[in-house]
Amino acid sequence: MSDTEIPLHPPTEVLTRGFDPTLSVGSARPAVFRSSTYVFPSPEAAERAFDLMAGRAQRESGEGVALVYSRFNHPNAEILEDQVAPLEPGAAGALVFNSGMSAIVTALFAHLRPGRAIVYTVPIYGGTQKFVQNVLEPWGVRGVPVRAGDAAGIERALRETPDVGVVLVETPANPTLTMTDLRHAAQCAAVRADRPLVMVDNTLLGPVFQHPFRHGADVVLYSATKYLSGFSDLIGGFALTRDPAVAAPIRALRGLLGTILQPDECWILNGRLPTVALRMRQSTKNARMIVEALARHPKVARVHYPSQFRDAEQVRIRDAQCQGAGAMFSVELKGGKRAAFDFLRHVRIARDAVSLGGVETLVCHPKTTTHSGFTDAEFAQAGITDGLVRFSIGVEDWRDLLADFERALEQA
Ligand SMILES: *Cc1c(COP(=O)(O)O)cnc(C)c1O
Repeated sequence: MSDTEIPLHPPTEVLTRGFDPTLSVGSARPAVFRSSTYVFPSPEAAERAFDLMAGRAQRESGEGVALVYSRFNHPNAEILEDQVAPLEPGAAGALVFNSGMSAIVTALFAHLRPGRAIVYTVPIYGGTQKFVQNVLEPWGVRGVPVRAGDAAGIERALRETPDVGVVLVETPANPTLTMTDLRHAAQCAAVRADRPLVMVDNTLLGPVFQHPFRHGADVVLYSATKYLSGFSDLIGGFALTRDPAVAAPIRALRGLLGTILQPDECWILNGRLPTVALRMRQSTKNARMIVEALARHPKVARVHYPSQFRDAEQVRIRDAQCQGAGAMFSVELKGGKRAAFDFLRHVRIARDAVSLGGVETLVCHPKTTTHSGFTDAEFAQAGITDGLVRFSIGVEDWRDLLADFERALEQA
């Protein structure tokens, strides 16, 4: 076995794959290539690059990537895609996007057609839900929502819905962290003759605590804005696939729409990948300590967090599917909206903001912000109450955060 064939572990690969210093004048870390267009060494090379880009020819082994024009690809996207792939075991490759939403939209448009259906778990990210309802449905794609964690519901939807193109699962569901069994969803999809693709939005627990390809997913989607980038200072996304044939139409549509991430942002995001596991593990340790204390607090009615699950089925899915509980939880305060707002008014270290996955701790009130468009029935189904506050814990010292929360609870 030659050196290059020894399989490396993800934390090593993320620093070594896909980057050749000799192509960056010897720089130990990648340079930024801002160019919008690339010079061809010969007219024949230009012809070959266009054949490869259009899919009229396949790359031969050892043949380099054809760089043409930066809406299609560019060196910083190529390096980033090579380095993110090992973080999601089973991925054959990755595509980077200029937001999580553009990764989701591009992947869905590439694999759905008018007359087909998408089965999706709810609650799902608000933008995803709006895209299904306000864009896909008017275009003739039928949306079939199924409650997160409802195994019988998924089974029924996949038995009874004709012509399903995609099953889209977001697990755990935001903000109550209800889990959906990925293996079960993939099995329900696999027995159908039309073999719908199973896509998983893995933003909340990946790429450290949940690996959907191991459970039968075909596409793993990310908002890289969250844990992957980790500093609440850029917007980006990924679609990873197990099969290059599933990636090809997504890549082609990305090239048409121009939803690739720009070189500077790729370079920034690339530098964040080697620390994503360190950041997620530290914030998860913090979250566990804080959750244990808040669960006993007299002003807290209930805490939603994987280590606190009581439902036997949820415990089973958690143990089969996740290697950690993550750094997000929700707390139901006694005293409803007023208590929740008073709490948010009085936190000093944590900030009242939506989004999650940053090194800094954020808190928000889902009912009036991230989920404010819901109907009463949707609130009830999603478990979103007036007193619910969502937490995204960062890497501060947990004792300071807990003291901050306890002080704010005194005022709630
Ligand atoms: C934030 C988020 C998205 C959307 O990502 P953007 O980067 O904001 O476009 C999608 N899914 C989940 C679960 C998210 O948290």
